[in-house]
Amino acid sequence: MIDVVSFLPGKRKQTASGWISFNAPCCIHRGDSQDKRQRGGIKPGTDSSWSFHCFNCGYTASFVLGRTLTFKARKLLEWMNVPQEEIERINLESLKHKSIEGLLGERQEIVNRLQNIEFEDRDLPAETQELNEFAKEYLQNRCVPLDYPFLYKTMPRRGIVIPFTHDNQVVGHTTRFLDDRTPRYIQDIQPGYVFGTDLQKSNWQTAIVVEGVFDALSINGLAVLHAEINDAQVRLIRSLGREVIVVPDQDAAGMKLVDRAVELGWSVSMPDWPAGVKDVNDAVIQLGRLGALLTIMQARETSKIKIELRKKQLVKRLRT
Ligand SMILES: [Zn+2]
Repeated sequence: MIDVVSFLPGKRKQTASGWISFNAPCCIHRGDSQDKRQRGGIKPGTDSSWSFHCFNCGYTASFVLGRTLTFKARKLLEWMNVPQEEIERINLESLKHKSIEGLLGERQEIVNRLQNIEFEDRDLPAETQELNEFAKEYLQNRCVPLDYPFLYKTMPRRGIVIPFTHDNQVVGHTTRFLDDRTPRYIQDIQPGYVFGTDLQKSNWQTAIVVEGVFDALSINGLAVLHAEINDAQVRLIRSLGREVIVVPDQDAAGMKLVDRAVELGWSVSMPDWPAGVKDVNDAVIQLGRLGALLTIMQARETSKIKIELRKKQLVKRLRT
C-alpha cells in the first residue's frame, strides 16, 4: 500500500472535485516564490495512483502503481521531504504490482523507443485554476465530456487549458482562448505527437483520426492537430494496431488530408452532414455523439476510387 496522502503537509484541504490542496513544494525550486495559497493539488486515483498539478508554477507529476517512479514524481517527493530510502521503497513496492498489462506496456515502450515514439514530460502553464461555470458551459455547449482534466486560465487572456497526455503523462498542452481575438489557440506540442491515444480503450478495433482536439474529445478519437499527418504521427498511429478511419474537416485544407490518407492506405469517411456542419465536433453538437459516429461508420470508404469520387463531390459543394 502506497499512501501518498500520508506524505502531505498537515495543512491541507479537500475540494469538491477531488483535489487535495496544500502549499506547493515545487515553486521555490523553479525560481518562483514560496506558495502560501495552497496552490499545489494532488488528485488520488484508484490503486494508489495519483497525479499532482501546481496551479501556481505549472509543475505536473503522476504515479501509476506497477510502474517505475518517473523523474518528475521523484523530484516532487524529494521536495515534499520524503526521505530517499522511502522513495526507493515506493518504487520497489510499485514494481511488485507490475501486472500482465504492465509487462505488455513495457514491451510496447521498448518497441516505441525503437521506433522513436517518445515524448518528454512537460509542465502546464503557470497561474491556472479549476474550471469555473463559464468554462464548463463552453465545454458543455461543445459536447465535450467534462471528466477530461481541463484547467482554466484568465491571464493574459481567459482560456481553457487542455493537457496533451501520452501514456497518461503530460507531454504538452493547448490553450483554447474564450475571447474573440486571434490566435484562438496556443500550443506546446512535440514533433510526432498525436492527441487522444489515452482516450482509446484497449479492446477497440478502430481508431478515428480527426484534425482538432475538440473533434477528438467529442468522440474519443485521435487528433493530428493540423490538416496533415507527418511520418512520425503515422508511426505512432500504426503502432496502435487498429483499423484507421480518417475523418477530414469538410473544407479545402481537409481535402489534403484525404490525399494523405489514400496514400497511407487508410479508410476515409466524409459523411453527408447537415448544412453548416464542417467537422466532427460540429456533427456531435448537431447529431449527438452516437448519431455522429453512425454517420462516420456509414460513410466509411476503403476503395481509392470511391474516396476520390466522394472527394470530388465535396470539393464541388465547397465551391458553391
Ligand atoms: Zn509550483
